[in-house]
Amino acid sequence: MIVMKFGGSSVQDATAIRRVASIVLPRLAEQPLVVVSAMGGVTDKLVQVAEAAARKDLSTALALLEAIRDRHVAAAIEMLNDADVARFENQMETHLTEARALASEIAKLGEISPAQHSQLLSYGEVLSSLFVAAAFAPLGIPSVHADSRKLIVTDARHPAASLLPSQTRTRIQAAIPELLNQRLVPVMGGFIASSESGETTTLGRGGSDYSAAIVGAALSADRIEIWTDVSGILTTDPRICPNARRIAEISFHEATELACFGAKVLHPATLLPAVEHDIPVAVLNSHKPHEEGTIVRAVASHGPSAFRAIALKRKIAVFNVSAPRHVGSLRFLDDLFSLLRWHHLQSEIVAISGATASVAVEGGKELAKLTSELEALGEVEFQPDLAIICLVGENIRGRVGIASEIFGVLAAAGINIHMISQGSSEISISFVVEEKDAVKSVQELHRHLFEQPATASSDAACAVRLGTAHA
Ligand code: ADP
Ligand code: ASP
Ligand code: MG
Repeated sequence: MIVMKFGGSSVQDATAIRRVASIVLPRLAEQPLVVVSAMGGVTDKLVQVAEAAARKDLSTALALLEAIRDRHVAAAIEMLNDADVARFENQMETHLTEARALASEIAKLGEISPAQHSQLLSYGEVLSSLFVAAAFAPLGIPSVHADSRKLIVTDARHPAASLLPSQTRTRIQAAIPELLNQRLVPVMGGFIASSESGETTTLGRGGSDYSAAIVGAALSADRIEIWTDVSGILTTDPRICPNARRIAEISFHEATELACFGAKVLHPATLLPAVEHDIPVAVLNSHKPHEEGTIVRAVASHGPSAFRAIALKRKIAVFNVSAPRHVGSLRFLDDLFSLLRWHHLQSEIVAISGATASVAVEGGKELAKLTSELEALGEVEFQPDLAIICLVGENIRGRVGIASEIFGVLAAAGINIHMISQGSSEISISFVVEEKDAVKSVQELHRHLFEQPATASSDAACAVRLGTAHA
C-alpha cells in the first residue's frame, strides 16, 4: 500500500480536489490511503477564531466559522449532487455546532486553554477529510472516511502532542487493512489525533506530513508521498530564491536537518517513522503531477556540490551567558539547560567555551523576561531579531575550505555573523545573522553555491582532506 498526503493548497477548493482525485485514481491498484490537510488557510482562520473568542469578540469568532462553512459548502455544491450536499452539510453542522459552542465558552471566560485551542484547530482537518472522502466517490474513487482522532494516539500535551506509537499502531492495524482489502481508499485528516482519554490533540503546525508518515510506518507502506505546491524539496525556499532548483534525491538525514532548520516543505518529525521502517518518502507537486519531485531515502546519491540546500529559520533570539570564574562549567551548563527546559525552550544551536555559553532559541523580544532569571547564573546578554541559516549536505564531510568560502561570501555582502555551529555529524553548518540580513544572506549564498559552476564547494575545486573540516 502507499500513503498519499495532500497539503492545504492541494485541497483548497473544488478545482484542487478534482486534481487530487485525478492523481489518486490511476493509483488505485497500489492501495492508497489518503491524508489531507485542512483546506488552505483554514487553520490560520481557526487560530483567528481562537484569538477572537479569547478577547471576548464572539461575533468575529462566529463570523470566521461561517466563512469556513461557506468555503466547504461552495466546494460541495460544485462537486456533489444535491442529496450528497445535504448529507455533507448535516455532517458539517454537527462539528460546527460543537465549534460554535466552544467559541462561546471561551468568549464567556475571556481565556482559552491549550486543550481548547487544539480542539478548535482540529475542525479544519475534521471538515476537509469528511469532504474529500465524500467528493472522491462521484469521481470514481471508492472512498471511506477514517477518523484520525480514533486512530492516532498521543499524550495530552498541547499544542504539539507526542505520539504513542504502539497504541497508534494497534489501532491503525485493527482498522485500516480491512478497508484496503475491500479496495476502499481511506481518507484521513492529517495533524489531528487524540490522547488516551479521548481529548483532541494536534501534532503541531504543519503536522499533516507527520500524520502521513505515522500511518505509513504503522502499515509498513511501500512509499509515502507528500503532495504539495512545489516540485519537491528545492535548494532553498523558492519564495526567497525564485531560481531554487529541484533536488532529485536527498537522504533522510539531510532532509530532517533542513526541516528542523525551517524548510517548511516537510514537518521536522515526518522522516523519523519513515527512517525506522526504511520507507522512501517522495515530495511531489499536486499542481504539476507529472514532474518528478524529490525522493528521500536512507542513502541518497551525491551530486557534485558539497551542499544540498539552504534553510532559514526566522524569529531567533540568542542568550550569551558567562558564569563567574569560580563556577565549574558542568554545574553552570546543567543549571542553564535546566532553566531553559523549565521554560520549554529548546536550544536550536549552542556554542560553549569554558563557562560561557551562547544559546540560540526560537522566540522574539518576549524572551527578554528570562534575562533576570539567567542572571542568577552569571552575566547575560540578550539579542532578539535574529535568524538561523543552515547549509545542509552530507558531502560537506572532510572537505577543506568550505567554511571560509561561505563566510567569505557573507563578508563580501557586509553581513555580520553572530554565532557559528558545525555539528559533529558534519552534515550541516549553521550560523546566526540578524533577521534583517537573513533573506539577503540566503540569496547571496544560493547564488554562490547553486547558481554558478566551479566553487570550492563543488568537486572541481575542492580538495578532500583526511579527517574533519572545521570552521
Ligand atoms: P503544504 O500545505 O502542502 O503542507 P507547506 O506550505 O507546508 O505546504 O510547504 C510547502 C512550502 O514550503 C513551499 O511553498 C515553499 O515556500 C516552502 N519551502 C521552504 N523551504 C523549501 C525547500 N527547501 N524546498 C521546497 N519548498 C520549501
Ligand atoms: N492544517 C495544519 C496547519 O496548517 C496542518 C498541516 O497543514 O500540515 O498547520
Ligand atoms: Mg506543510
